[in-house]
Amino acid sequence: MEAAPPPAEQDPGAPHGYPGELVSVLIDQETVQAKVRELAAAVAADHTLDTPPLLVCVLKGAVMFTTDFARAMPIPSEMDFMAISSYGSATTSSGVVRILKDLNSDITDRRVVIVEDIIDSGLTLSWLLKNLQSRGPAAIDVVTLLRKPEAVKVPLEPRYVGFDIPTEFVVGYGLDYAERYRDLPFVGLLGAHMYA
Ligand code: 5GP
Repeated sequence: MEAAPPPAEQDPGAPHGYPGELVSVLIDQETVQAKVRELAAAVAADHTLDTPPLLVCVLKGAVMFTTDFARAMPIPSEMDFMAISSYGSATTSSGVVRILKDLNSDITDRRVVIVEDIIDSGLTLSWLLKNLQSRGPAAIDVVTLLRKPEAVKVPLEPRYVGFDIPTEFVVGYGLDYAERYRDLPFVGLLGAHMYA
């Protein structure tokens, strides 16, 4: 069988496949991946091997983070997905949330870890915590890759936070603008002309 080619060098600053569009790097790929490993080790250290946590991935933004996170965890975990939509404009949430896809798992007595891409106002997460709490889990922790501390409108203390970032609209590593840019391997900022 033919050997697989070596992985291509990636320039984290390049606008991967988005020619002519302004995407600047806020957190490069290597820094994101190092943080994912650090968070995965921290969460794993707080769990015992006999009770694998159920990772709840909040679609779609947290999908890249969740899959990298699960693979970086040195202990087994299970994974489920929830899709929720927050009414609001393209770039702000209202806190009024609708479930588009619910969990398949019964979380009663389970140790749940909500895996979030970003906490902005905190309204969506606050709603989600209340919703999952009502299902009788043993515990719920939150791990978020990004948080905008200046934007948080509700008091939330996520146990594990990757990066505190400025109150700017970010894309990449699962985060979109009108369904684009999720595939970027880094967290970036759009050029000013993209804010519609
Ligand atoms: P919150 O309810 O905390 O204001 O907003 C949470 C959701 O809004 C996130 O899960 C994400 O889907 C979206 N969001 C908040 N800030 C950003 C951002 O800077 N970029 C992108 N792409 N989505 C964001």
